[in-house]
Amino acid sequence: MTAIFGALDRDLGLNDLEEELVLQLGRIVEREIAPRAEAYDRSGAFPWDNIRTLNGLGMNGVFIPAEHGGTPTSYRCFLRLVEVLSRGCASTANTWATTFNAIHPLLVFGTEEQKAKYLPRIADGGLAAIAITEPSGGSDVLALQSTLTPDSTGDFVLRGGKSFITNGNVADLIVVFAKIPELRTPREQLTALLLEPGTPGLVVGKSEAKLGYRASATVSLHFDECIVPRENVLGGVGQGFTVLLAMLNRSRPCVSAQAIGIGGAAFDEAVRYVNHRTQFGQRILDFQGVQFMIADMASKLALARSWLWRVGALVDEGPADDFDIEASILKVAASDAAMSIATNAVQLHGGAGYMTGTKVERLYRDAKLTQIFEGANELHRARIGRSFLDRRGPGT
Ligand SMILES: Cc1cc2nc3c(=O)[nH]c(=O)nc-3n(C[C@H](O)[C@H](O)[C@H](O)COP(=O)(O)OP(=O)(O)OC[C@H]3O[C@@H](n4cnc5c(N)ncnc54)[C@H](O)[C@@H]3O)c2cc1C
Repeated sequence: MTAIFGALDRDLGLNDLEEELVLQLGRIVEREIAPRAEAYDRSGAFPWDNIRTLNGLGMNGVFIPAEHGGTPTSYRCFLRLVEVLSRGCASTANTWATTFNAIHPLLVFGTEEQKAKYLPRIADGGLAAIAITEPSGGSDVLALQSTLTPDSTGDFVLRGGKSFITNGNVADLIVVFAKIPELRTPREQLTALLLEPGTPGLVVGKSEAKLGYRASATVSLHFDECIVPRENVLGGVGQGFTVLLAMLNRSRPCVSAQAIGIGGAAFDEAVRYVNHRTQFGQRILDFQGVQFMIADMASKLALARSWLWRVGALVDEGPADDFDIEASILKVAASDAAMSIATNAVQLHGGAGYMTGTKVERLYRDAKLTQIFEGANELHRARIGRSFLDRRGPGT
């Protein structure tokens, strides 16, 4: 990428150790992870090689407190690592980032016993999953139908099912959201819990074949009367909505970092191609129409990246979690930028861009998901728009 983007990264304010980690990951992505991406995309196999590579670098330590065996970094550094990884292989980035997103609520809401039990395994390279979406719907979270009912011993029985769960078949820990029907409103009923793989009654579906992110594992889960010990409730009975919001405030910037990684990789591919492909006796970048396309792609990327670092800084400055509109703006801007840049990158490659196995063709398919998961962009647009409603009513 050009010097413009490098300058943007210098404003990030990472410390020397963080800068070194980003460089180290960048080298490994270039040397090992990116070269494997096409084969993993074609086979749809889970990228265990890449997970081993990341674990060799101790990457899970980034989101684990030192007292539980980690070497934590700032959230901006985490986002930068997700971006770098996504440039090489979005599926691997999503696998790693989902583990962070699932573990974050455990760090914030978990009891000391829960942390002591689960964090060492994750620090050691384990994976985690978040199970919210159900066959009945994903956008309307409060309409989920999985239930938790108390049994005679004071533990809970989990019934229901989930769909499209990233890492659901490879996770060492699954954060599940379900409802306790005895409580009053859907919001009060929502409860988060920690579910271990191998729990009797937990049935894991086969890995879904997908348009993009093909090596990221996506499965359905079925809960056939799983017994969940009461001590596995996360954040307290009826506190699921609070847990969920805190989690989404971190996971949405994280998906945006994936989008920007995908968009950045597509931009680089396009720039490389238009500089070397000639038609009518000149480089295609010599045509003004192509220059305009590249200019629009660069502008979208630069603006989305600078807003990514803005939201990252808001998280690091904490402790307030009141940046959900900023996070929604980021999610929409970054994922729409990624889709638009990847679409134009295919266009600029002409027929070659339409061929299976061309890098931009994979990036184009990967980019689409970023507009759908972590809340479809229409939902985010509605939230952003609603935030400008004058509470005093019309005509005031
Ligand atoms: C590859 C992949 C991985 C995923 N990983 C996970 C995971 O790890 N954990 C998890 O819990 N979920 C996961 N999901 C689920 C994902 O978050 C949902 O698919 C997403 O939130 C949309 O929900 P839905 O599919 O039920 O679509 P629906 O809610 O049925 O919505 C369909 C479409 O309707 C429109 N729409 C819906 N509501 C509104 C509205 N209020 N205003 C305007 N338009 C609207 C939007 O265009 C939306 O895309 C994953 C999905 C995919 C595809």
